[in-house]
Order: sequence, then structure tokens, then C-alpha cells
Amino acid sequence: MQRTLVKNSIDLVNQTIKLQGWVDSIRDHGQVIFFELRDRTGKVQVVGDKSLKSISTEDVVEIIGKVAKRPENMINAELATGEIEIQLESFTILNKCGEMPFQINTDGKDINEEIRLKYRYLDLRRARMQQILRLRSQFIEACRQYLFNNDFVEVETPMLTKSTKEGARDFVVPSRFQPGKFYALPQSPQQYKQLLMTAGIENYFQIARCIRDEDLRADRGFEFTQLDLEMSFVKREEVMQMIEAMVKKAVKEVGGKLKDENFPVISYREAMEKYGADRFDLRSEEEKKEGKLAFAWVVDFPFFKQVNKEDAAEVRDSKSGWTFTHNPFSQPKDEFLQDHLQGKNIEKILTTQYDLVCNGYEVGGGSIRAHNSEVLAQTFKIMGYNEQQIKDSVGHMMEAFKLGTPPHGGIALGLDRLIMLLSQENSLKETIAFPMTSSGRTAVMDAPSTLSEEQFKELGLQLRGFGSLNTASILEKIKTFLTQEKIEFHSFTHEPVFTCEQAAKVCNEPLASGAKSLVLKADGKAIMVVVSAADKLDLKTFKKLYNYKDVSMADKQMLKDVTGLESGAVPPFGSLFNIPTYVEENLLKQPEINFNAGTHTDTISIKPSDFAKIEKAEVGNFAK
Ligand code: ASP
Repeated sequence: MQRTLVKNSIDLVNQTIKLQGWVDSIRDHGQVIFFELRDRTGKVQVVGDKSLKSISTEDVVEIIGKVAKRPENMINAELATGEIEIQLESFTILNKCGEMPFQINTDGKDINEEIRLKYRYLDLRRARMQQILRLRSQFIEACRQYLFNNDFVEVETPMLTKSTKEGARDFVVPSRFQPGKFYALPQSPQQYKQLLMTAGIENYFQIARCIRDEDLRADRGFEFTQLDLEMSFVKREEVMQMIEAMVKKAVKEVGGKLKDENFPVISYREAMEKYGADRFDLRSEEEKKEGKLAFAWVVDFPFFKQVNKEDAAEVRDSKSGWTFTHNPFSQPKDEFLQDHLQGKNIEKILTTQYDLVCNGYEVGGGSIRAHNSEVLAQTFKIMGYNEQQIKDSVGHMMEAFKLGTPPHGGIALGLDRLIMLLSQENSLKETIAFPMTSSGRTAVMDAPSTLSEEQFKELGLQLRGFGSLNTASILEKIKTFLTQEKIEFHSFTHEPVFTCEQAAKVCNEPLASGAKSLVLKADGKAIMVVVSAADKLDLKTFKKLYNYKDVSMADKQMLKDVTGLESGAVPPFGSLFNIPTYVEENLLKQPEINFNAGTHTDTISIKPSDFAKIEKAEVGNFAK
């Protein structure tokens, strides 16, 4: 007998059918047992006798039974198959389900994120997640269809490539064939899509994975998906129109509601004046409740900005203090081209960039590109690159531009974000099948993980820092590491001490040179704060200085989970435990730093300058 899908069972009254799926819920009335069988198309009620006692929820079953109309008063209006039930004739348990780590018949939002992601395959079984994944697939299909109808070609571009700057750090992959050399994973397909224009594709798109090593925020991981697109012989307005039409069609096809049929176009300047930001929410309270999507375009952005010194990637990308606001491959607006070529009035140069915003988020961005090698070179010159550095970074693009590259422009839409807005969720993670945890670990698979000795050898790699040491104890790790880094240290073994005062006394050292290592819980995450034993941490100042909302001492359990140690034995190296370290400046002014090194009976002493060298800590004044 062939399998029938649940949704089709309703049309087969009085017939005997075979269903396969999961046991959704069970009601046991003793002699009669009911359960709902669930497959990808829905749920249906099955009625059987005591023999069903052996089933439990989430078992995978196959049943054979007769479709029967339910009496009028037994109809379940909430179920698409509520007018029928299946009278069980026989069943087989295809796979028994063990104890579930959590329920899947709720929306799941109150379950701890780590647990949800560890068992993501179960989490995805819940109705809400099923709907989101299907919505995502339908939305992508609608975009694809639209683009195919408009003569676009879908092309894949390499994942192992050279750095393409989008303002983030690169993820790198070591090369086995050429030890010591590295590929970069693409921050976007920007350069390849432009080269496809040189190749004469004219209309390209791709559902592209982009990988950026950015500081993690609660709702985002290192990878995301873009609908990436590029067109030849177009003006800015033509790209915008094409995208607007596609977005409108796809949103409607999946049941989304638009605020405006025509997306308003606002200049960057006007947006900043009116909304104080280049992403804004145009919805009224009423429209928010109705779940509407309010799209708008923002145009006329400044091409360059001063580097934000706190942003490592920006600092690395720029050599002059100027960096691009969006994309170094953009073409300046015509009226600023002369200034651009002459490197004049840099702060006033506007680019052809256009961003698409929706409900307060940036959901896409693109530009008309420089297709002339001189214009591209000049962008890098403004960023302080010399001839050789320009050649090393974008020499290949400049060469292509000299070999018949048409004028072109494009855009990329953030698919995760669009799906988040369409499904009225507020975290990107809800839209991704297997997202990362907030601490950057992958769902289910628990990466990143270490490599074997053999792999390190093959790749010609050697680790630096504490992570490289496999010795059993913290004390051994610290000693080996200090020796490896050629750092002078003294270590003492003494009777057990539990406070800094006791430690200072047995070591016969001034209290001030003792390092007090505190593990704190800061906005939910563990951090290490190190102060001189003669000082007290001023929590209020600390919170303010580093912009934390909520900081408290870690409890015993957290301390143990993070460090594996007891209070009083923790050394001042957050990096040993993969947590950030903050150090009070006063400690670094002492002639020496003494600290407990993983036990109550060992103290190590090093110079403050050496401490600063090996532990990349934030230094500040936050003592009382
Ligand atoms: N490459 C840009 C980005 O990833 C988008 C574009 O300009 O097409 O943000």
C-alpha cells in the first residue's frame, strides 16, 4: 500500500489507508486510545484500542486504518482534518523516541538557547519553526522566479577565495598544499559578481552565503545569506526598480502586507535630520500591530568616513584614517567624480550607494560600481594605499576593468533579516535552520574544535598562547607558557592560602602586588576583572566604563563552570578560560604581580610589563 499524506486523508472517507509520521499527542481512555499523527502536511486523529499503550509521543509510526467521518458533535474545527478520524487496524513503530530534552508543542521561546541549539533538530519540529523554514523557502522561490522571468542567470562563486572587503575581519582557511598560506572565506561575492559582468553575463544573481568575523551580537552569527545580484548597463534607479518589484511580488506571494505600494526614497541627509539614523521605522502603531512591512530607500550616502578606532577591521582596512562607508567598489556620484579623482573634499563626496530599509532595519544595500581602474585605484589611494598595496588588493579588478568591463551596478538583500521581519520574529536566529549560539558555537555539532597533531603538521601550523597547551593542570599550563614565551617568573609552593592577605603574608610580598582575579557575570556572560589586592573593584564605575547593564560576582557554580577552579585559586588570565580580561591600571604600576596559579598552594610572580604582553586585557581605572 502506498503512503497517504495526512492532508489528503480527508478525501478518502471509508477507504483504508497507510499513514506515516510522528505521534503528536496521546489521550488514553483505558479501552480506547486516541492519538494525533503528524506529518509534514498536518495532523489527524487516530483511534485504537489498548494495543496502542506501547506508543509514546514523538515515536515514528506507520499505521493502517480506515478513514471514518466523525459524528457531527465530535468535529474538531481547529484541525484541517477535524471532520474525520482514522480507525486503527494495525500499526508499526518505525523508530521509538527516547525522553525528549524539551517539549516541542510550545513556541519554545522560554527554553535556554544553548539547549535549543544543541537539539536544534527537535526544536525545528515545533510548528512555529516549521512555518518559518517553509516561509523562507517560498520567499526564495518567489524571488528566483521573478529573476528568471527577468532574464537573470544564477551563478555560484567560490567559497575559498581572497579577502573581499566589506568592513569585517576575514575568516581564513589554511592551505595544505602551500603551508603558511591562507584562503579567506568570502565576506560577500562582490568581486566575483563584478567579474561576471566583465564576463558578459549582464544579469547575475545568487543566494550567497557570506562569512564575516564580526563581534557577535545576541541575534547574529558569523554567517548569513544574501540574495546577491548584479546588472550591466544600468543606472541606480533601474536597479532600485528591479529590486522593488521583486520584493513586492515575493512579499505578497508569501502573505506579507506592505505599507506602501511605492517605496519612498529619502536622502541620507534627510534621514539623519528627520530620524537621526539611516535606518528607520515608518510604521504607525496601528501598522505595527497589523504586521505591515514599511520599506524605504536611502540614497546619497557619503562615500568615506573617518575610521572608528575601536573597529579592528576598519583600522586594518584604512591606512590614512579614511575608510569607505559601504563598499570600496562603488562609483562616486557624477558631480563628485572630479573631487574623487583629485582626492579633494573627501568628506563631501557622495556615492551612488542605495540602501533598502524596512521596519527600522537595513535589509539591503548596493551601488553603481566603479568600472574604470583609475576610479577604483583612487578610492584606495584616499584610504592611504600606495601603488603596490593597491595592486596587491585590487590589481586583478583593475586589470579586468581594462579588458572591456561594462558599466554595472547591483545590490545584496539580507535574506535572514527579511524573513525575520516577514515572520514577525525578533531574532535572526529564528530564521536560520542551524544558527550559532551567542558565544559562536555551532548548533548540534559543537564547533569550533581542536585539530589533531597530525593536522597541525600537515598544515604547517603551530598554535600560540594558552590554547596550544594540552598539559593537565592550570599551573603547568601557565609555567609552560611563560617558559615558551621566554618570560621571567618565580614560583613558590607554600601552605594553603585562601585570601590575598594570607598570600601576601606567606610570600612576604606587599599586598598591593597581589593580583585579585574576579570572575563576574556581565550582561549574562562571564568576564574576568583583575585588581590589585590592596584595591576594591568599583562596580558602578566599571559598569559605566564598559557599558554593561548588569554586572555581579559569578556564583560558585559559574566560577567552577568557567574556570574549573575554586575561588582564591584563579590566575589573572581570562584567556585561559576563553573570557575577556579587564585589568585595573594600578596593578600594572606595581614592581611585580603575584598571583595564585590554579591551586591554593602555588604563587607565581611576573613583571607587569610581561603580564601586559601576554594577556590582551582592557586596562582601565575602576578601583575604589
Ligand atoms: N557587497 C555588498 C554587501 O555585501 C552588497 C553590494 O553592494 O552588492 O553588503
